[in-house]
Amino acid sequence: MATQYEGKFSTSPPPSHPNLTLDPTVEHNVQLTEPQSRSRRINMDSFFSLLNRVSDSGTATPHNNPHATPTLPDMANIFRLLQDQMQTLATTAPTTENRTFLMELVDVLDQDILDPPDRLQGVGQEFLDSLDRVSRKKLGEEDDCAICKIPYLEDKYCLVVELPCKGAHQFDLECVGPWLRSKGTCPMCREEMGKKKKVVVEEDEEEDDMDMIYA
Ligand SMILES: [Zn+2]
Ligand SMILES: [Zn+2]
Repeated sequence: MATQYEGKFSTSPPPSHPNLTLDPTVEHNVQLTEPQSRSRRINMDSFFSLLNRVSDSGTATPHNNPHATPTLPDMANIFRLLQDQMQTLATTAPTTENRTFLMELVDVLDQDILDPPDRLQGVGQEFLDSLDRVSRKKLGEEDDCAICKIPYLEDKYCLVVELPCKGAHQFDLECVGPWLRSKGTCPMCREEMGKKKKVVVEEDEEEDDMDMIYA
């Protein structure tokens, strides 16, 4: 028969830390001339292996998995990996404009992750292969890729493509490839590429080199 004391232990209010500033915001040094800018390219191997697995399910040779229909989690993961690419680039964005652009893409992908489509809207690899390559001669010193912001000419072996959108937007193939394969739009103007699927046609482009003079 113990008498119970209903002691009202008034829990003391949590100590306030008026001067404790734990601001996670770090200062971003804008390094426009960073030497290892190559590091801004994101390795997209896992993206492509998942993408190929999902895309293969639509083709005639699903050799080891007869019912390999892409599952919604697979779809969501494709977009998540793509979002990782843009997010990672955004965290080291050299300019505010670049960061804003990348974060817009991240937002778009949020939708795809939450509510994945049951079919990928992206273009096929053959579309990427058929994109117009921009030759180094046509690129200026200042021209850079809107996604990674690395001036094209900094890369000795840059592979720049021009999309068939009205803006004729240009990107590093490596940077824009994942977006095109999964989203099928121009990341800049969001014009759909699928309808403009080009077939590799032998145009007389090569005949342009008329300044070849035989001595
Ligand atoms: Zn790039
Ligand atoms: Zn465009």
